[in-house]
Amino acid sequence: MTKPVYGRVALIGLGLIASSMFWAIKRAGLAGEVTGYARSQETRDTARKIGLCDRVCESAAEAAEGADLVVLCVPVGAMGGVAQEISPVLKPGATVSDVGSVKRAVIDAVAPHLPEAVHFVPAHPLAGTEHSGPQSGFAELYDNRWCIVVPADDDTDAEAVARLRSLWEGMGANVDQMDADHHDLVLAVTSHAPHLIAYTMVGVADDLRRVTDSEVIKYSAAGFRDFTRIAASDPTMWRDVFLNNKEATLEILGRFTEELFALQRAIRTGDGDHLFDYFTHTRAIRRGIIEAGQDTDAPDFGRGAKKP
Ligand code: NAP
Repeated sequence: MTKPVYGRVALIGLGLIASSMFWAIKRAGLAGEVTGYARSQETRDTARKIGLCDRVCESAAEAAEGADLVVLCVPVGAMGGVAQEISPVLKPGATVSDVGSVKRAVIDAVAPHLPEAVHFVPAHPLAGTEHSGPQSGFAELYDNRWCIVVPADDDTDAEAVARLRSLWEGMGANVDQMDADHHDLVLAVTSHAPHLIAYTMVGVADDLRRVTDSEVIKYSAAGFRDFTRIAASDPTMWRDVFLNNKEATLEILGRFTEELFALQRAIRTGDGDHLFDYFTHTRAIRRGIIEAGQDTDAPDFGRGAKKP
């Protein structure tokens, strides 16, 4: 057991990310008490039933009152409203953080509501599954994954940043720090645009299925199955990601379209060298990800060995 990093932590929103945080905090004894709140009675009842949080509250303000750290774990589009609701009860010297997949829009929505005496240290754990809700979390979700800490501005209290970093390290994550705009561009490349492409590919195949009956499902063992897994991600979360990281996502999709046209031309003109060189280069990138410990090189993505 590690020494607690915070006396009381409040988790607002009790889905995949918050529930995994709770189990990881408990695993390492990182907080004295964890309170929680979710919008629906159903989620709050489920949380109580499965022992998610030491105390499940009936409002976000009740959960946040007296907390040393409040983490907003709701969809990006709901962050500003929650910040407004909890701001009157925040303890002076407390830290507010969030786990949103987009950072600039969250800072713009949340910061104006926070009192002077409260530190705001946004963060984004680069870990997830296609499942959501209070029962989808598990303590190991953040093990050896990155968490990017994005201080709201240059004047953010260094002690508050260091403490939040310790919490994420205690939950198993490797912590990095960058500014909000850089974060949003990096994530547009590594996560947001790929999700949009997966959604599109599954949509295209669905159209095709009407022509070829069940063949798309029947023979989906290869690449397509991985697209369907990504495209099963939560619709609310991903709607909010695209609406709130518009500029960076559109920039990357523009580049993607140019590359796609170049490959299309190579196929049309029979330019095998272009295709071979391109695929050799992308294969090396995959090798780099495995060497960095961010994925397994087991055949079939190690499906048999991984947690569901
Ligand atoms: P989730 O499983 O769908 O859970 C979202 C939670 O937020 C639910 O408990 C929901 O309550 C609550 N909620 C929604 N709107 C609310 C509101 N207006 N006020 C109060 N609570 C509200 O979502 P998640 O996957 O944990 O994602 C949470 C955040 O983490 C998002 O900002 C997302 O961008 C970010 N994130 C997600 C992933 C991922 O892969 N899933 C990875 C990194 C970061 P009800 O259950 O009562 O509706």
